[in-house]
Parts: sequence; structure tokens; C-alpha cells
Amino acid sequence: MESHKALSFVFRSIPFKDFDKRVILLTRQFGKVVAIAPRAQKSQKRFGSGLESLTLVSAFYQMKANSSLGQLQEVQILNPFSMLKKSVKKMAYGSYFLEMIGEVMGENESSPNLFDFLQSFLEALEKSAQEEVLARFFEARLLPKIGYQPILKHCVKCSLPFEALEGNISFSLSLGGIVCFRCLGREDKTSRIVSKEVIRYFDHMMSPKKDPLISYPFLREIGTFLPSFLFYQLGKELKSYTFIEKLFGE
Ligand SMILES: [Zn+2]
Repeated sequence: MESHKALSFVFRSIPFKDFDKRVILLTRQFGKVVAIAPRAQKSQKRFGSGLESLTLVSAFYQMKANSSLGQLQEVQILNPFSMLKKSVKKMAYGSYFLEMIGEVMGENESSPNLFDFLQSFLEALEKSAQEEVLARFFEARLLPKIGYQPILKHCVKCSLPFEALEGNISFSLSLGGIVCFRCLGREDKTSRIVSKEVIRYFDHMMSPKKDPLISYPFLREIGTFLPSFLFYQLGKELKSYTFIEKLFGE
């Protein structure tokens, strides 16, 4: 038995067997961790509200040799994100951020970058009234962190530089970058027509050093391909995103 203490976001807690809960934690030190919380279905005594999704905790758990399932012993709540949990919309976006990081975070590997990134966006979400705007920045800035940085400096097919491209260009989900008007074939069903201004703005969004002024028309247009691009790379659409679309989509 090895004892661990980890700064964690509770991602999901579901009933396990008759009395326990199976808890997925996104931790800073050990990446994604799955642990059993004994008797958590029956009694609130030991874990209180510390197993609620979207709670920042310090988690104490033990790992047996040759098992990937931990045994949760104690959780100390560091930030319950109470303000965030008061709003259905913020909860929905917070769950989306969690699910996305849960998809890309590895098990048993130190993930301080992804963890800190998630924490900063959840803290911003709690204060902000512009959930959609935050979501687009979250998606854009996540891309380079997980190796999905799209090619925007030149056409992915003929390498013609971005500045030399004329008129509308397209963003291809499957090719992972921009395609010039001449190279655009009808066979690529995953491409979306976009303007150069939108691509330039998208490029600025990905860099945390630049904070472009918020442009709603640009962000709306980016919203038509950016989440899809992430889902294309992940190989699936996230349930929390489908839920946001259903509840708040236009
Ligand atoms: Zn081209």
C-alpha cells in the first residue's frame, strides 16, 4: 500500500456496488486517478460534500501494488466553487471544462500544466458573465497544450503563406489547418469556409501572451469549427457539450 496526497478536482462520483462510490479525480501530481470511496453512498459523515463534481480538494488515498484503483480515505475541501454551482449555465460550462481535461489527461502521470490550466478557467468562469467567450478561449488555448495546434500560417496542401492567400479560405478539421481556395476540394466534407480575419483572430487567441479584444462576431464564427475540431481530434463529441448546445444553443 502506498499513500498519496493530491491536489484534485472531483470530476465524477458514481455509485459503486451497494455502499461505495467510484470517484474520478483529476489530480495535479498523478493525472487522472480512479478511487473507491467506502460507504459514501450510505453516509455523508466521512466525505461530506467533498465528492461533488467541480470541487477542489486535497485527496488522501492509497494505491495497492498491481491495481489501478485507489482507496479514498479522506478529502479536504479547498474550494467548493459555490458561486459557480449556483448557476445552471456555469455548471454546464464547468462540466464541459472538466470533461475535456478528463479526456486528455493521462492516468498516473504528473499533469501540473493541464491542472493549473483547468483551475484558472474554472476560477474565471465563476466570476465571468461570458461563459461562451471563456469556452472558446479554453478550447483555443488547450490545443497547443495537447499537441493539436492547427496549421494557420500557410495552406496545408500547397504551403502558400497565409498573407498571400486571397478571399475566403477554409479550415479543414481532418487536415488540421487552413486550405486555400485553389486547393479546396469538394471531397473534404470536414472543411468550413472562414474569413482571413477570423483565422488571424483565432491565431491570436491561442497565445496566452496576447489577449485580443473580444469580438463577438469572430468568436461566433470560430465557434462553428473550433469545438468540432477538438471533437474530431478526440474522436468523439463530449456529452457536456451536447448538453450546452441543447440548453443554451441558438
Ligand atoms: Zn493551397
